[in-house]
Amino acid sequence: MINLILFGPPGSGKGTQALKLTERYGLLHISTGDLFRYELGNNTPLGVLARSYMEKGQLVPDEVTVGMLRNKVEANPDVNGYIFDGFPRTIPQAEALDALLTERNDSITKLIMLDVTEDEIVNRILERGKNSGRADDNDPAIIRNRFEVYLKETSPVYDFYAQSGKSVKVHGIGGIEEIFEKLCAEIDAVA
Ligand code: AMP
Repeated sequence: MINLILFGPPGSGKGTQALKLTERYGLLHISTGDLFRYELGNNTPLGVLARSYMEKGQLVPDEVTVGMLRNKVEANPDVNGYIFDGFPRTIPQAEALDALLTERNDSITKLIMLDVTEDEIVNRILERGKNSGRADDNDPAIIRNRFEVYLKETSPVYDFYAQSGKSVKVHGIGGIEEIFEKLCAEIDAVA
């Protein structure tokens, strides 16, 4: 099993790269943002709850997010591994993920962070917002808030996995293929 966390601020290219990595390594891509957007699109109680946080660029509470993630993992046991995208975003989420994998005699292989500056992010997300239909991609204030939340609550997750030598950074500005090859080199080094 290869279990990767694709890490980095919103708009750092995690979703784009995760899709390419899924193809190359045959892993299951789990994006908690996509899962919430699916629920939201179907107007489920979970979607309605998630919307109130997503609209403001805030995190959905850990217990809700972890429960949803657990269901997705448990519904797909027979895979070569997982690419977690947009999860874990807090230390309690990281602890819950480790506990979930440990139950399955498994663990995180590596956390790879796409390293991108804040200014680059705001520009990229506004650009994406022209087509993505995402309300949280169209307002610079909400985007800045998402970046603040990332710095405060999410970036400690990098250090959490660095303690066991699992965290690495890849420069996230450049061509999609160029960044993809750098990610593959990191994965091939441990796979
Ligand atoms: P993303 O598509 O990963 O940028 O996520 C969009 C929004 O969904 C975030 O701004 C949060 O409101 C919510 N979300 C996604 N993943 C998580 C998570 N792991 N924990 C809490 N909220 C999340």
